[in-house]
Amino acid sequence: MMKATKAWVEAQFPLIRHHASLVYLDSAATTQKPDQVINRISKYNRQEHANIHRGVYDLSQKATTAYDQVRQQVKYLISARRDEEIIFTKGTTESLNLIAYSYGMPMLSEGDEVVLSIAEHHSNILPWQQLVKNKKAVLKYLPVDIEGRIMESAIDTVITEKTKIVSVTMVSNAFGTLQPIASIIKRAHEVGAVVVLDGAQSVPHKKVDVKALDADFLVFSSHKMFGPTGVGALYGKYELLEKMMPYQTGGDMIEYVEEQTSTFAPIPQCFEAGTPNIEGIIGFGEAIRFIEQIGYDFIYKEEMRLTKYAYDQLSHLSHIQIYGPLNIEDRGPVISFNVEDVHPHDITTILDQDHIAIRAGHHCAQLLMKRIGLPSTCRVSFAIYNTTEDIDQLIESLKKVRKWLG
Ligand code: PLP
Repeated sequence: MMKATKAWVEAQFPLIRHHASLVYLDSAATTQKPDQVINRISKYNRQEHANIHRGVYDLSQKATTAYDQVRQQVKYLISARRDEEIIFTKGTTESLNLIAYSYGMPMLSEGDEVVLSIAEHHSNILPWQQLVKNKKAVLKYLPVDIEGRIMESAIDTVITEKTKIVSVTMVSNAFGTLQPIASIIKRAHEVGAVVVLDGAQSVPHKKVDVKALDADFLVFSSHKMFGPTGVGALYGKYELLEKMMPYQTGGDMIEYVEEQTSTFAPIPQCFEAGTPNIEGIIGFGEAIRFIEQIGYDFIYKEEMRLTKYAYDQLSHLSHIQIYGPLNIEDRGPVISFNVEDVHPHDITTILDQDHIAIRAGHHCAQLLMKRIGLPSTCRVSFAIYNTTEDIDQLIESLKKVRKWLG
């Protein structure tokens, strides 16, 4: 395995090279892509494109093999047991909708409980709201503290014998807070509930081992880990996938079609109706290769170094309120903050004039914002292509904001 250096990593990202003055601090929304991923997608389109699973001709078989190899890569990345436990989707949102529908519809009865947390992304709230409405079930929430952390003291009381599904994020996308996943999984399994982990903000940064965690489901998106948009993965324990109904029906997910009824293809094909985003999935595979070449150790160390540096620099500014954990080890590479008396959208607009891209808003986490008593925050988030100079520029611009508007 190659030894990643900072200079090498930075040299890999054409968008960063192209916009010489850009300071991109929005990787929690989506990451930039390395040449390696862009070139792989281009090579597929120029030399290898054909539809999969259908053709007996060489080109189609090669496309099928390349597609299926990515399933194996995802399996190894998260230490799943079998290739069949990996289902390709459009991303975290579709993965969560798929689980809520395909597992929730057959498995939930009236009065059963689904437990989420107040810190969830809207993607991990709305599919469950739809499900419980349909099944006359009950939606409950684990409370969070002021740092956005699920309160461990509430786990045993909120998750009860009636709980059938617990769906929580591993890391808050709004505040970066790491959640007490092990305690939640332990309690859920004690009462016989299954646990869905939203890994959208975890898998890009740190090794997630579904066997070690004993996770029942894990979902994540390719575009937050150097891969293309419109592609994601759903891991599910095989014995749970066997209990699920198809999410969508149509071509590619059937065995036989008759006039009134049809039989479905085996797992995982029965969950992948229609022609998938083949080039996207092949690009996703290359993004996983990129992460493995660099290594999670390097990624984690580098991102934590940047997060700590940014946290320290931001803390030295007056009139700034930082949200989320005080302890850097308790967060992912995300920092949410506000500048006293200045609206977050005004801050992002001014920073944009200095070519600094950050995000402002509720970050699709309105329940968390309401809990903390905030309409919105500014959010900066880091990836391995960022530098301490990027953060210095952020700080200089923030000083101007306060001077102009404060
Ligand atoms: N869950 C979390 C924690 C996220 O951060 C996001 C995206 O920001 C999502 C779910 C939704 O991901 P996608 O839009 O890729 O489906």
